[in-house]
Amino acid sequence: MDHLSFRLSDDDKLRMNDAMKLDEQDPLHHFRSRFLFPSDSRGQPKTYFCGNSLGLQPDTAKASVEQVLEAWHHLAVDGHFTGPHPWMEYHRRLAGPMADIVGAKEEEVTIMNTLTTNVHLALGSFYRPTGQRTKILLEADAFPSDRYAVESWVKLHCLDPEVDIHLLQADAQGYLSPDLIHDAIVKAGDRLALVWLGNVNYYTGQYLPMDLISGWAHEVGALAGFDLAHAAGNVPLNLHDDSVDFATWCTYKYLNGGPGSIAGFYVHERWNAHPRLAGWWGQQRSTRFDMRTPFMPEPGAEGWQISNQPMLSMAPLQASLALFQEAGRERLREKSLTLTSYLEQMLGKIHLPGMQILTPAQPEERGCQLSVYIPQHAEEIYRRLLASGVIVDFRKPQVIRVAPVPLYNSFQDIWKLGHHLQDIVRQVHHS
Ligand SMILES: *Cc1c(COP(=O)(O)O)cnc(C)c1O
Repeated sequence: MDHLSFRLSDDDKLRMNDAMKLDEQDPLHHFRSRFLFPSDSRGQPKTYFCGNSLGLQPDTAKASVEQVLEAWHHLAVDGHFTGPHPWMEYHRRLAGPMADIVGAKEEEVTIMNTLTTNVHLALGSFYRPTGQRTKILLEADAFPSDRYAVESWVKLHCLDPEVDIHLLQADAQGYLSPDLIHDAIVKAGDRLALVWLGNVNYYTGQYLPMDLISGWAHEVGALAGFDLAHAAGNVPLNLHDDSVDFATWCTYKYLNGGPGSIAGFYVHERWNAHPRLAGWWGQQRSTRFDMRTPFMPEPGAEGWQISNQPMLSMAPLQASLALFQEAGRERLREKSLTLTSYLEQMLGKIHLPGMQILTPAQPEERGCQLSVYIPQHAEEIYRRLLASGVIVDFRKPQVIRVAPVPLYNSFQDIWKLGHHLQDIVRQVHHS
């Protein structure tokens, strides 16, 4: 499917036929049946656009969890070393598929903890202010957890967040211009320790050029780290080639790992010997159980692990990563571009007074999500969409986020959204 090969007609009709045809041509359409959709009171599946918040359950997730429970039952403590998937090695099965998703070498990626915990571990290692090099560059509208984590590390180093956090202010539409990031980096110069950014913004859906930003940071002697919460599984990433120093991401959004599931962690191989907050699970495997050896980290990201791993959290993720491998990241991106462009055209046909799409119009500057700013009755429109079985999310004060996910959303889903939205807008503006 070529994402430029279709264009909706110029009249106001939302034709279901167009959507059906696009679904027929979609080589990934069958993946939809591999996911479990929530249903309404009549048992009808809902139309789900919230994969940016919680991805749907793969149909193989339950069996994957049951396999761990069975091993616990039948093997008990021996499950660490025996059975079809010994627990000692379990996270290593996930590192390869995860490394494909984020574009890194397998040794540069591990699975551990949860996202904000990993942000702390990363800042503990890589935010090491010395002399006048003390500043961190952050978005003014960063996700709150990232802001709290950064502020706490600045304070732990007895520095002042007001002085040492440089906030990047987006424009009125929420757009963060790469030129502005470049200027801020150059201006901070040798006072800049670290750039820490969400590479797909949770609110606007803007996707930042990591290769450029890492290059600019390195030119002034600073490091570049990224929060990939809204990028992993959404856009094709190339952490290693982009020379990103470190990154972390959750797996319950686009990666469908289940509520509160275990997070991903990446460290560029150039940092293998870097200091860290250590724990026994980062100790070299050959001496981990000697109990009295000094800390010698396992090479690669795995050396940042702290604790014994949560098998029951990794099991559903394993099921989901297998689906990503089957679908392939290039094909997913291709479909994603087409789906989001279709959604954009659909929204353009609906007469919603003052509506603006905050997400950049350039496909290379966004993933699947569109953030729709609605100046009047946004919350009312959101509630009515939910009542009609269309699940989107709402960010105060006036933004509805819609994320058509290429693994399980269809063009007909988008048609349904458009159809209901058109009705709702008529009702709301005439009542
Ligand atoms: C979802 C999200 C989080 C959530 O952090 P948890 O530790 O998983 O609760 C943090 N940062 C960003 C940018 C997010 O999008």
